[in-house]
Formats: sequence, C-alpha cells, structure tokens
Amino acid sequence: MASKIKSLLTLLIGLTFIGPIAVAETFVTIGTGGVTGVYYPAGSGICKLINSDLPSHDIRCAIESTGGSVYNLEQLAIGGLDLAIAQSDVLFHTYHGTGDSGDTPGHTTLRALFAIYPEPFTVVARADSGINSFEDLKGKRVNIGNPGSGQRDTMEVIMQAYGWTVSDFSLVSELRSAEQSKALCDDKIDAMVFTVGHPSRSIKEATMTCQTKIVSVTGPIIDELIEKNDYYRKATIPGGMYDNNPTDITTFGVGAIFVSTTNLPNQTVYGIVKSLFDNFAAFNALHPAFSNLTKAQMIDENLPAPLHEGARKYFMEKGLL
Ligand code: GLU
Repeated sequence: MASKIKSLLTLLIGLTFIGPIAVAETFVTIGTGGVTGVYYPAGSGICKLINSDLPSHDIRCAIESTGGSVYNLEQLAIGGLDLAIAQSDVLFHTYHGTGDSGDTPGHTTLRALFAIYPEPFTVVARADSGINSFEDLKGKRVNIGNPGSGQRDTMEVIMQAYGWTVSDFSLVSELRSAEQSKALCDDKIDAMVFTVGHPSRSIKEATMTCQTKIVSVTGPIIDELIEKNDYYRKATIPGGMYDNNPTDITTFGVGAIFVSTTNLPNQTVYGIVKSLFDNFAAFNALHPAFSNLTKAQMIDENLPAPLHEGARKYFMEKGLL
C-alpha cells in the first residue's frame, strides 16, 4: 500500500513538473527529400538550430525524408507537414494551380518564409554513354525522377519544351534521388537528373564511384524557358567540385524555398525565423550549400508565394525588409 501511495505521489510530482512544459511545446515537422540530397541535411541542420533555441520559443522540430518538392507542398496544403523545403518553380505552380496537371485549384494557404540556396538542374551521364549535352539524352536510358520530386517536374517541363515524350528515351526509370547514382554506376541507366543544391552527396556518389560527367543544359530552348519564367535562372556547377569534373558546367536552375502555410501561427514562424537569423553564422555553417548565403539573398518579398506574416514581422523588426 505504502509503495502504491509512494508511486502515486511520484506520479503526481512528475506530472506537476512535466505537465506545464509538455503542454507549452509546439512540435513542427519539416518535409525534406531523399537522404543523399541537400534538403535532408539542410532540414536537419535547420531543426538542430531551432531545437538548440528551445527555451526561448518552446518549438521542437523534427524532419521527415520525403519524395521531394511536389509531395512536400501537397502535404503542407493538407496539414500533413508544418514546414517544407521546395523548389521555387513547383511552389509557383502549386500556389497558383498551374503547371502540367492543368487547372487544379491553387493552394493559396502556402506561404514562403525565405529563399535558401540555388538548385541547378543537374544531369549526370556515364562517360561511356556518348552523352555530352541535354539533347544527347534522346534515345538513351534515363532516370527522369520519382513522381512527387521536383526534378521530375522540371524534367517534364524541359521535355515538353523539346517536344519529347517518354517514348523518346530507350528506357525510362522513376527512381528516387537516393537510388539513382547506384543505378548509374551499375550501368542500369545512362543518365540521371537531379534539381539539387551543390555539393550534394548524390552527385558525389555518382562522380566518385564510376566514370561519369556532368553535362550542360543550354541552348535556345532553355534560354526561352528562362526568359519566360521568373523562377528560372542560368546556373553554373563549379568545376572541381566533383571528381573527374574539372570544368564549370552551364545549366539553368531554380531556388530552394523554405515554405509553410497560414495554418502555422505567426508566433511559431517568428520564433523559427528568429532562431535561424539571430544565429546566422551557425546557419551558414550548417551545410556547404549554405556557406555563402547572405540575409539579403534570402529575404525577398517576391518569392513564388506570399511571405508568411510571422517571417515578415521578424524581418521588419530587424530592418531587413
Ligand atoms: N529539388 C529536389 C526536389 O524538389 C530535392 C533536392 C534535394 O533533395 O536536395 O525534389
């Protein structure tokens, strides 16, 4: 009996201590991408920084590995995720309900917090494949990306611009980003595509494990895409960043954007943004793709979705907007 009373007392004391803290904490989950991409380690670093500031905002952050941008934004819109990283082009189309899937209703609750880093559209081909440019992909075995990924979306846009369909390739695969470098080096495919920040582990694997080259994505069709769409930019993958790829490669790209919705309270978003921007040196050190970022590059009113009011409040307070 005494021990029962004792354990009841212990439980009550425990509840008194745990109770108020547990109630006050807000849990947020960030949707990222495949584990060998940049979204995943970037999201993990962002969570680490948020969690290290827990006493100031009581926000506890976790990440989820996902299929990529399209999946992330769909999940955000239905409340399956609180925050996510997504490509600027995919965000634009999901917000406005435009793009390949036609006239879907836009997800107008989506909100941008800030831009992160550029994501060049990256094509890696086997050295023995005879592929030297994007045009050379015709007739080859190509991994066009899993449905739900940003690279699949970007690839479909380029294919459409070139007037290609999947039957223009001798084989099409839909592997996820984390699976494609192995398929390339196992000679299951001739080329892989990935819209990704650099350096990325996936591209490192593909260039270290076997003889491959990063090929350029240029020409009048690409120029026209860039000219017509604000979210596309010319992009360069620096020579020497990856094994056996000593020269700069020209391609085009999008931006990675940190996204949420109007459902995440302003106060929560304010706390998250403050943790990251008040500790900017630590933020820069989270991933090599972050190392040269400046606040000015990241804070932009003209992102593909409206700025979240919680982020705006912080940026205004700091005179950054
Ligand atoms: N841009 C890719 C996507 O939207 C993901 C890149 C990454 O995992 O870093 O699916």
